Parts: sequence; C-alpha cells; structure tokens
Amino acid sequence: MNRKVAVLGLGIMGSGMARRLIAAGFEVAVWNRSREKAEALGAAGARIAETPANAASGASIVVAMLANDDVSRTVWTGDDGALAVMDRDAIAIESSTLTSDWVLELTRDAVAHGVRFIEAPVTGSRDQAAQGILRFLVGGDADAIDAARPAFDAMGSALVHLGPVGSAATVKLANNYLCGVQAASLAEAIALFERRGLDMEQAMSILFDGAPASPMVKGVGRRMLDRDYAPHFLVPLMAKDLGYAAQALADAGIPSAIAQAARQRFAEADAAGEGERDIAAIVEQLRKA
Ligand code: NAP
Repeated sequence: MNRKVAVLGLGIMGSGMARRLIAAGFEVAVWNRSREKAEALGAAGARIAETPANAASGASIVVAMLANDDVSRTVWTGDDGALAVMDRDAIAIESSTLTSDWVLELTRDAVAHGVRFIEAPVTGSRDQAAQGILRFLVGGDADAIDAARPAFDAMGSALVHLGPVGSAATVKLANNYLCGVQAASLAEAIALFERRGLDMEQAMSILFDGAPASPMVKGVGRRMLDRDYAPHFLVPLMAKDLGYAAQALADAGIPSAIAQAARQRFAEADAAGEGERDIAAIVEQLRKA
C-alpha cells in the first residue's frame, strides 16, 4: 500500500483528522464542498482536490467525514464520487455518523467496485480529532482493518472492532442517543434552576458531583452555564443522530418515544436559528420559553 490518503469532508472533525494524517507523514489529498476549509489544509501540506473523485484517485485509503447519509451517498457514489475511481483493493473508510441501512448499501457498492469497505464512526469531538485521540468504532473485515491501522493510529488512540459492517453504526447511534437525551434533560434542569432563582454554581455542583455526572453532563453543562456555544458538535447533527436512533429503534420494534422527544428539542433549536452553534445552545430556547 502506498502512503496516499484522501480525506473527504473537512468540517470540525474531518479537518482535525486530516491534520493528524499530515503530521504522521501521509501524503494527504483533501476535498470539501466549501473550498475555504480545504485551503487551510492546503497550507498545512495537503493537495487540494476539486472533486471527491480527484482526491480519491491513486489513494490507498479514502476517509470520509460528512454530515449525513445523503451527503455520504453523493460523495461516494454520485457524479465525481470517490468509489468509481478507487484502485482495486484500496480501502474506503466511512467515519461519519450514519444509519446501518446506508453503510450496508455502501458496502455493496464498494464491493461492486472492487474496493474494501470499513465503517468507522468515532467517539470524541473537536478536541479529540485535533489531538489524534479519537476512538474508532469499527465494523468490517479484520484484514482490511489491519491494513488501514497506520491511518487509524494517526487519527485515534483506540479502535474497537464491533463486528461486521452495521455493528458500529448501531453502537454509535446508541452512544449519541444517550448523549442527546442527557443534553436535552440537562437543558431543562438548568432552565428550571434559573427560573427558581437558585444559586447556579451550587445547584449545578449537585449534578456535577453526583450520580448524573457523566462526561457529557459535566462538559455540556459547563458550556450551558457559561453560555459558551463555540461549536464542538453542532445542533442539527445531534438532531440527525437522534432521528437515526429513533428510526433504528422503531425498525427493531422498540418504542422510540424518548429518542423522538430529544430529537424534537434539537430540531426546534435548529429551526430557531441555533444551527451553527454547539449543542449546549439548546438551553437558550428554554431560557426564552
Ligand atoms: P461539520 O463541521 O458540520 O462538517 C460536516 C461536513 O459535511 C463538512 O465537510 C460539510 O461541508 C459537509 N457537508 C454538509 N452538507 C454537505 C453537502 N450537501 N454536500 C457536500 N458536503 C456537505 O460536522 P462535524 O462535526 O465535522 O461532523 C462530521 C460527521 O462526524 C457527522 O456525521 C457527525 O455526526 C459526526 N461526528 C461529529 C462529532 C463532533 O463532536 N463534532 C463527533 C463524532 C461524530 P461544508 O464545509 O461545505 O459545509
């Protein structure tokens, strides 16, 4: 395998991942819909491509980090999509948070093109991507995963092989489902504390030091209190993940009312203009209610 890697999608996560690959000595080509984000990577040593196909051409590994199923479909299989030009036995790594239905369909497309496919959604956020300490949740063939390990090692500090393609999407959606529910209920609790005129630091210390004190509650809770909405994870992406989780539950015959209620909270915040802000911003709708 050559040392050529393409990164498709240079948002909050993809740009950090591309930088780590460059720092590890890979020859990196990048593509992003909005060119200005690619230019920042060009300054760091990447080749800027005009299309996904151009970025993927000649690469032994292609990594995608994109908003949702529809975007993933276009970037891999649309006009100028990456799959059609990839070398035989090259490895496609899809790291976006997507549905298991779509990653299974994408696997079949990849196989039809002679490309090896790995799903590899991540836990960790903006800072972990920038520092190369993401955790990859991986589904796919063990040989392909081993072949891609140097690239995974450049971008992350842990890799968990969960089974065949579809397994990782399922676990990733459950992970974000639990995070989204915590953030939504935390926003309601903070709004209630404020409405009752409590000493916020003191009241929040009970949540931050007690049984609810997950990394999610502590991290997002602090940002809600500080009104710090610089993006780590954008509001519409959490709405998307909760929608995908609700669908997965419904497809499995499991009641999904909690996932749907949490999704609604994020969807309403997005509709109210919070779409470019961090998920902590969902508390603002409740402060105004
Ligand atoms: P982001 O900053 O919003 O980046 C989204 C990427 O998708 C950008 O490259 C964006 O291009 C591209 N995109 C959106 N719509 C497009 C379209 N119609 N056509 C082509 N490209 C399009 O989001 P992110 O935080 O990096 O997240 C990327 C993925 O990782 C998502 O699936 C998310 O759920 C997942 N994830 C995020 C986090 C996190 O904490 N941020 C953690 C784990 C997983 P433009 O730059 O042109 O808009």
